[in-house]
Amino acid sequence: MDYNSHTDIVVRVAVSLVNELTPGERRGRPFPVPVDAGAAATAGLRAVYTSYREVTASEGTELARVAARLRTVFAAVAAGDVDSAAGEVNALLEETHARPMLERHDGEPWHLHFHGRGGTMAGDWAASCATGLAIVLGSEFHDRLGVCTAPHCDRVYVDVSRNGTRRFCSTACQGRVKTAAFRARTRPE
Ligand SMILES: [Zn+2]
Repeated sequence: MDYNSHTDIVVRVAVSLVNELTPGERRGRPFPVPVDAGAAATAGLRAVYTSYREVTASEGTELARVAARLRTVFAAVAAGDVDSAAGEVNALLEETHARPMLERHDGEPWHLHFHGRGGTMAGDWAASCATGLAIVLGSEFHDRLGVCTAPHCDRVYVDVSRNGTRRFCSTACQGRVKTAAFRARTRPE
């Protein structure tokens, strides 16, 4: 992809939070509302930031609400409704007071953050994820957000392949669909 690496990272966080915190189906099985939202949110953030601190239960609950909003953006793009996706992202940017600010911490070089100072942890992530998705939607890659097209799966993804042909959340779902297609072809008449 062509956008900067921090954007890439917050978009990956958005994908991960949606996939760990929103109910639906995953890889052919029901995916219920997580019993422990704090643990699910911790897993989601650690999928991107491996040493991220443990998320509390109340933060997890707040992040689950953020994730539900983020899911509607992926779903709208997957349905070809970029207008709705843009409307939802704009609403999130406004509510979270997302704004760019250069920061330097933990020995890292100066880099751009997107959240307001003094917000809640979930509010900061909402601002960051909304900004990341806004950059994607405002670019030539606006159709790269997707919802898995395998049966009984609604996990989301961002397609970073060169030609933009990704259709599944994971190689597991890609494999399930391939196997089903193979069985259908080889089934005796
Ligand atoms: Zn899938």
